[in-house]
Amino acid sequence: MIDMTEPSKKVHQCLIIGSGPAGLSAALYAARADLEPIVLSGMDLGGQVSRTDTIENYPGFPDGIQGPDLVSIFQQQAGKFGAEIVFDSATEVDLSQRPFKVTTYGGEYLADTLIISSGASVRELGVSGEQEFTGKGVSYCATCDGHFFKEKDLIVVGGGDSALKEGIFLTRFANSVTIVHRRDELRAGVYLQKKAQQNPKISFLWDTVITEVLGDDTVHSVRLKNLKSGEEAVRDIDGVFVFIGHDPNTDLFKDQLEMDENGYLELSRHMHTNVPGVFAAGEVGDPYFQQVVYSAGMGAAAAMEAVEYLEGLELPED
Ligand code: NAP
Repeated sequence: MIDMTEPSKKVHQCLIIGSGPAGLSAALYAARADLEPIVLSGMDLGGQVSRTDTIENYPGFPDGIQGPDLVSIFQQQAGKFGAEIVFDSATEVDLSQRPFKVTTYGGEYLADTLIISSGASVRELGVSGEQEFTGKGVSYCATCDGHFFKEKDLIVVGGGDSALKEGIFLTRFANSVTIVHRRDELRAGVYLQKKAQQNPKISFLWDTVITEVLGDDTVHSVRLKNLKSGEEAVRDIDGVFVFIGHDPNTDLFKDQLEMDENGYLELSRHMHTNVPGVFAAGEVGDPYFQQVVYSAGMGAAAAMEAVEYLEGLELPED
């Protein structure tokens, strides 16, 4: 159930930050253990999955399932057992003492356990023109923006699974999709490589990066550089879709939780952070697998550990 509940000074047993597969799966497990979890949805209910077209590798859906539909099912199932989803985002956390304090746009929450599943955000190219033309030809979401590019010529940047998967999706609309990759070898799995290579609308530009996005009202071209020859060229294009990976959403936890050099939370194999009572799940602590099924599993494990932790808390003296 979705509710814009007024935050109160009540100490919640379990507060979950983020509503992707990890957060909603943690919510399901925590709710079934009667922890009455509150889930702070963040900006997008479902996170990255809500912006994904078809997910073909989540078990139980042999024909694949649309990302938003999977989010809706996760949400219904967690809600059925009493998880409460609040459309709000954490803006500050204080993990220095229990109950932990989480400030949001709407107020403040206190909780005995926290499950951090704040996910990761898309990485940007960081070149001139990119921000200026975001929403005007530069996009990070094929599902959201693909239909604006019917019969158009597009560039997709990246050589991983996302670039190929979304590039293939974009051929439903576009006239052509050129995949621009900085190396001459793809990072993506073999299945997607084959599918992309067999698609007549897809071609590849190897060892190449975009150095500038050019346009007037909307994008009309990009400046490209071949990293091996150093050669530069301007190429006419109608749209640029960027899929070059993600950065974990961990700014809130700097100086409070241990992280690796890329900002991913350091987790034990039982989803514990370095602060007892604070657990994490999903891409925020997973630089390696980054799969919906794995994130959901991490969420379940984090909730099970939160239950254990609460059971082990000493009863307050009265
Ligand atoms: P990724 O695997 O990290 O790939 C990022 C790609 O972008 C790499 O090819 C990388 O080049 C390139 N890149 C990174 N920074 C760049 C920059 N500044 N300029 C130009 N290119 C840059 O990210 P992803 O494709 O988003 O995938 C993330 C995870 O989700 C992976 O584990 C992936 O398997 C998974 N995933 C799976 C599916 C599926 O259907 N199975 C779909 C989507 C994602 P290099 O190769 O040179 O490093």
